[in-house]
Amino acid sequence: MPQPRQHGTPERNRPGGPHAQNEPTGGNGLPEPTTPNGRAALEALLTEPARALFAFDFDGTLAPIVADPRDSAPQPGIVAALAELAELAGTVAVITGRGAATAVDLGGLDRVPGITVLGHYGAERWSDGRVAAAEPPPGVSLVRAELPGLVDASGAPEGTWIEDKGRSLAVHTRRAADPDRALELLGGPLTELAERAGLKVEPGRMVIELRPQGVDKGAALTSLVEERGALHVFYAGDDLGDLPAFEAVAALRARGVSGLTVCSSSEEVTAVADAADLVVPGPAGLAELLGRVTERIRGLAA
Ligand SMILES: [Mg+2]
Repeated sequence: MPQPRQHGTPERNRPGGPHAQNEPTGGNGLPEPTTPNGRAALEALLTEPARALFAFDFDGTLAPIVADPRDSAPQPGIVAALAELAELAGTVAVITGRGAATAVDLGGLDRVPGITVLGHYGAERWSDGRVAAAEPPPGVSLVRAELPGLVDASGAPEGTWIEDKGRSLAVHTRRAADPDRALELLGGPLTELAERAGLKVEPGRMVIELRPQGVDKGAALTSLVEERGALHVFYAGDDLGDLPAFEAVAALRARGVSGLTVCSSSEEVTAVADAADLVVPGPAGLAELLGRVTERIRGLAA
């Protein structure tokens, strides 16, 4: 289970953190974003939720990281919080590297009214129980055929295993005796295979994924904001694959859309916290934040 990182600036972002000047402000129990853009966006999200889009990564954000991703389950209470938010917000969406239907099944996300789930970084879309998807590129078949032999030949230790996600394949090292050494051994061969297959290498938390190029969470988020005509956007993520979505939020600001980026923090990745307007301590912290956001929206509307 990831723990909040113990160094750097996010300490002051945490709800109930030790710095008096960063205690929840305004008596609304909400933590304060560290950036002026983030503070303005939070205010806009609270006061005009019907024009807002709230989007979330799945693993490490809505669901704690577990040793085997097939065992993933949402943070207790967080799906109920999303369902309540969905009654107030223009759009609630999940944007994940997983297949869309897989995320819906693991998360019980069909309990959230009107939710849109973009899978495989936006190449798949689940809504109202249906999945729409483009054909996977041919390079995925090449990787599927060659990856088992390549992992064996790399000398990566026992416990290293391959997850076939359909449109992409991931090599996980979390269950290996030395996960970092396994990643080192795999890096070169996987990069070479990705180049031959015309795929992209996506490093993550004790995982390397080979997936189609030209799709990322930033493009997926931007398209959804445009489609929904959202004026305010909230995006929460925990891993390197979420940084393109953070960059998309920055680009949307230049077009007049207010944006708040939230990091679900872990010790494993610090780059996401450094880039975020607000850091919460993992999925549990995000669940608490969502509860407070909903409560505040209701309070303002009353
Ligand atoms: Mg994640």
